[in-house]
Amino acid sequence: MAHAPVSNPHQVALQVSLEAATHKTIPAAQDTLALRQVFQNIQADSCPYTYNFHMHTACSDGKLQPESLMEQALHLGLRGMAITDHHTVKGYKFAQQWLLDRSPENPIPHLWTGVEITSRLIGTEVHILGYGFNPDHQSILPYLQGTAPQEEQAHAAQVIRAIQQAGGLAVLAHPARYRQPTEQVIEAAASLGIDGVETYYAYNNPNPWQTSPEQSQQVKSLSVFYNLLDTCGTDTHGLDLLRRI
Ligand SMILES: [Zn+2]
Ligand SMILES: [Zn+2]
Repeated sequence: MAHAPVSNPHQVALQVSLEAATHKTIPAAQDTLALRQVFQNIQADSCPYTYNFHMHTACSDGKLQPESLMEQALHLGLRGMAITDHHTVKGYKFAQQWLLDRSPENPIPHLWTGVEITSRLIGTEVHILGYGFNPDHQSILPYLQGTAPQEEQAHAAQVIRAIQQAGGLAVLAHPARYRQPTEQVIEAAASLGIDGVETYYAYNNPNPWQTSPEQSQQVKSLSVFYNLLDTCGTDTHGLDLLRRI
């Protein structure tokens, strides 16, 4: 970025400190600009070897300890990822610490904050994923207490707003897995301002993990229609990041 020349040393110091402060306020885990760029380039084969934005640890209903999950992520060569435990960021926090202890200078893969929240949309239960939010922001805290939200708080509109107010992106998980038709669920989520849909997902438990072509194609055409971001993830609950269950 080009700056007009400044002769006053106080002004220079101010500018430098402002830039440092601005930079400092956006931790990598909350860098939604970078995350948007990744989502804009997600393809059917991005998951599970390059990106994975849907994984569970023993901190919710998964089997993997966060440290083992990170070891696998590293071994697979993932470039970007998020742990999306149900209603908690404990697993994310362990993983974040593990990454920092390992390589404080250049933590790879890029780990964003993540969570999966049980919500109500057009009379049915849906799961909404949150990414890149500030885990200490007051609007998201009620959803990080380890249990599914109830009544008002469970409405998809509220959940989406809470994620976005905390600086994050809201994504409809596995859109073809609900009691309502996929088109209707995505239309409703889009009308509430959801940012994206989990376009690439395995709707059974294939070995090795592979996105379901038919459903992914349908979701992709809807995401194009509603101008939504595409995401991908294995939804791993077991011990292997290359499987769903
Ligand atoms: Zn789910
Ligand atoms: Zn899940």
